[in-house]
Amino acid sequence: MTAKIDAANAAAQRVAIVGGGLAGSLLALALAERGYRVDVFERRSDPRVAGAESGRSINLGLSKRGIQALTEVGLIDMAMPLTVVMRGRVIHAPHGHTRFQPYGKDRGEVLYSIDRSELIRLLLDRAERQPGVTLHFDHRFVSADKVARELTLESGGETRRIAADWVICADGAFSRCRPEMQRGLRADFHREYLEWGYKELTLAAGPDGESVIDLTALHVWPRAHCLFVSHPNRDGSHTLTLFLPHEGPDSFATTNTPEEIRALFQKYFPDLLPMLPALVEQWTSRPTGSLLTTKTAPWRFEDWMVLVGDSAHAVYPFYGQGMNSAFEDCSALLAALKAHPGDRAAAFAAYENARRPHTDVLMELSKANFVELRQKVSSPWFLARKRLDVLLNRLLPGMWLPIYTMVSHTTMPYAEALARARRQDRILGAVATGLVLAIGGGLWWGLRA
Ligand SMILES: Cc1cc2nc3c(=O)[nH]c(=O)nc-3n(C[C@H](O)[C@H](O)[C@H](O)COP(=O)(O)OP(=O)(O)OC[C@H]3O[C@@H](n4cnc5c(N)ncnc54)[C@H](O)[C@@H]3O)c2cc1C
Repeated sequence: MTAKIDAANAAAQRVAIVGGGLAGSLLALALAERGYRVDVFERRSDPRVAGAESGRSINLGLSKRGIQALTEVGLIDMAMPLTVVMRGRVIHAPHGHTRFQPYGKDRGEVLYSIDRSELIRLLLDRAERQPGVTLHFDHRFVSADKVARELTLESGGETRRIAADWVICADGAFSRCRPEMQRGLRADFHREYLEWGYKELTLAAGPDGESVIDLTALHVWPRAHCLFVSHPNRDGSHTLTLFLPHEGPDSFATTNTPEEIRALFQKYFPDLLPMLPALVEQWTSRPTGSLLTTKTAPWRFEDWMVLVGDSAHAVYPFYGQGMNSAFEDCSALLAALKAHPGDRAAAFAAYENARRPHTDVLMELSKANFVELRQKVSSPWFLARKRLDVLLNRLLPGMWLPIYTMVSHTTMPYAEALARARRQDRILGAVATGLVLAIGGGLWWGLRA
């Protein structure tokens, strides 16, 4: 059953969005601006009343793709004052030595750290101001009846069915809506858990409110066995995220007592110990999170259900692209609806075809960046290669782009970025081989003469 609905008829359409997170609330706002009536069903309480949810990443790196999507919905001017600029990475070596690596060749190529709860508050406030939007908190999606075109929701211990002209599944990495959408279809789903988990700690500002480490950078403590990353906050504090194996020696499983916690820091991050007087309290009171990545197809059912954000493609956080790509999905879905005004099924198909090959590549890039952050950022070869990339980028602007620049500072589709990076690698490899042969040949002639 593929209903054809005229775009001019948007006001007559009731869209149900499952999940009032980052992607869900941005789409609610954007669709209401286009005349749709939107109901957002969010299983949690209103975060503006209940406060931020503990255990979720506290702040996020916002980059070009997310900025573009926020610009399209007219929110960028309100979002930017909530951010802290990160000009590059400060790498902390085990012996305490630090080294700054800029994100790009110029001042425009920076990232922005933004507090998740402040961003979600902004998105929900703006969405709620739209006359067509109704936010239903404490409403958990339970199931979908694809024949009757109704959703079952649970709230306050009671279930009810509601009809929806179409449904957006924006309920995150552990989506309940995705399997319901795919029930009865020849669907693929792949989920991979990382053997490492994460815990967030807070590096408080000094007594004068000044940050105790450079506030304008992302800080990384790369170790082969574990990794610390910190994002700055506007109040001068930093959110530290420790990535550590769940099990085995020096893992979350073996780090429980105050002695074990201090010993872990003494071994891997001795420079952080004096800066974290409340380490033990924070460690024991903050949850340990899991990291997973998912890949699935299809993303849509006829003209009725469609996936966006983490429900379609959760990625490891090591490229800082989960939210950015979720926002980019929203832009792509809105563009597809605009391009296929009379045919929502065609719009959903165009959206999936435009996005899925690229988010599949993002999954691979995020895995690769885990290795880069852990092991390579302190390797002399890696650093030399980075410098060469930046130099070539300066010498050949527009022609030579490092992969990190393409992913974080442009909206070039991810698969194109990867293909281009591989072409550049081949060119560099050929030039290096040519140089070695030329030098070797020269030496040989020199010795013969
Ligand atoms: C440690 C860490 C660090 C990260 N850092 C970055 C970063 O620097 N940059 C970046 O771009 N991304 C980052 N991410 C990824 C980013 O958090 C996600 O990609 C992003 O939140 C996805 O947005 P979403 O709207 O798809 O899902 P979510 O933000 O997860 O929202 C889903 C919503 O659906 C609701 N929900 C779930 N189930 C139901 C149900 N049954 N019924 C109703 N509602 C439901 C949830 O309560 C939630 O509000 C990070 C992630 C982690 C774990």
